[in-house]
Amino acid sequence: QVRTRFAPSPTGFIHLGNIRSALYPWAYARATGGTFVLRIEDTDVERSSQEAVDVILESMQWLGLDHDEGPFYQMQRMDRYKEVLARMVEQGLVYRCYMSMAELDALRERQMASKEKPRYDGTWRPEPGKVLPPVPEGVAPVLRFRTPQGGSVVWDDKVKGRIEISNDELDDLVIARPDGTPTYNFCVVVDDIDMKITHVIRGDDHVNNTPRQIHIFRALGEEPPVYAHLPTVLNEQGEKMSKRHGAKAVTQYRDEGYPADAVVNYLARLGWSHGDDEIFSRQQLIEWFNLDHLGRSAGQFDEAKLRWVSAQHMKLCDNTVLASLVAGQFARRGLSVPADDRLVALCALFKDRCSTTVELADWLSVYFVDVQPAEADLATHLNDVSRPALVALRDRLARLPAWDAASINQAIKETVGECKVKMPQLAIPLRVLVFGRTQTPSVDAVLALLDKNIVLKRLQCV
Ligand code: GLU
Repeated sequence: QVRTRFAPSPTGFIHLGNIRSALYPWAYARATGGTFVLRIEDTDVERSSQEAVDVILESMQWLGLDHDEGPFYQMQRMDRYKEVLARMVEQGLVYRCYMSMAELDALRERQMASKEKPRYDGTWRPEPGKVLPPVPEGVAPVLRFRTPQGGSVVWDDKVKGRIEISNDELDDLVIARPDGTPTYNFCVVVDDIDMKITHVIRGDDHVNNTPRQIHIFRALGEEPPVYAHLPTVLNEQGEKMSKRHGAKAVTQYRDEGYPADAVVNYLARLGWSHGDDEIFSRQQLIEWFNLDHLGRSAGQFDEAKLRWVSAQHMKLCDNTVLASLVAGQFARRGLSVPADDRLVALCALFKDRCSTTVELADWLSVYFVDVQPAEADLATHLNDVSRPALVALRDRLARLPAWDAASINQAIKETVGECKVKMPQLAIPLRVLVFGRTQTPSVDAVLALLDKNIVLKRLQCV
């Protein structure tokens, strides 16, 4: 039974690179019929906030990354961590270290001066036959983990391959502060054990924590999970994606009208592949996703590519779904447009020209608000040839007994014949006046979906 998790720190901002660390464990859980757990790592009380948690939940919900268990909050699990700490003290897996900050600083300086790597020197680590310094009065100790000495820690990373770290590189990690609160690496391991996580899929900024975490797993009598450390996502300038470097929040892509499935598709491809497939549905992703085709090199974000993927998804998107998304875009503009059959038909007609639902709403707005044709278009397309033809067409349209594409088409053809103009000489100014555009899908079809009286009114000015 596969169990994966997303373990964000809620510090206020979540970009596409961050949410990819939710997408992959989610997809892997869904692909294997496993369980996806959400855990909020909120122990940095200063920087964590409920609003930031809400942003994470909202972003995941938008992209359809539903979790099966959680959210669990680390701050609500303090008693559990302390219980495990107490057991570790009892079993001699950790020891109390009374070295003060000043002493640690002095040690570091000595080591730096002799060009050694700064590390804790094990002063307080009990060993058989070793005499420890006298316990200073009034100093609250930290708890340090007894890292195994000699040998190394090895794991087969699903992305990076086999990694081996010599234990001599790792000093004895502080796992509880003087006030007794547990530290980050320790909490992660207790959580991953309690939540029975089988696969840890996370950003490779955590790869240095992994050997330490594996030691803690083993000390607690547990086998560590499988690890997959995902390469960083770079921005278009090749820097690590970050808010500071201009990354947008995940929800901004929703507001800009990208369909969620398009963003999921794009992010999935940014670090994983299924042959040459570029465009796939959520269902295909769930069928295909595995840990064997994760890319080793950093993915670089490319907004133009995202737009292209989005345009493909617009074409594939069910028209009813699209209509409700477009209705949502209109609502954001203060326009109440029902997602009815007409909007569904309009989406079907116009979606091939759009990369986002915002663009689609832009196209369709002429159906719900007045148009203001550009002066330049009027000057170019309204002339002595087109004017009489437009007047003749208006009269024909006014007399039509039925308002449908076939009847409108008939009226246009008859007008072209009668006025001896070429089709574009009538159709282009017609589009400019009614839709404010020189190009639209088939003009009879787009006219048929607009109220007859509105069409006549927009032709009134000829
Ligand atoms: N809380 C960590 C972060 O936001 C993730 C820790 C993990 O996945 O193990 O980067």
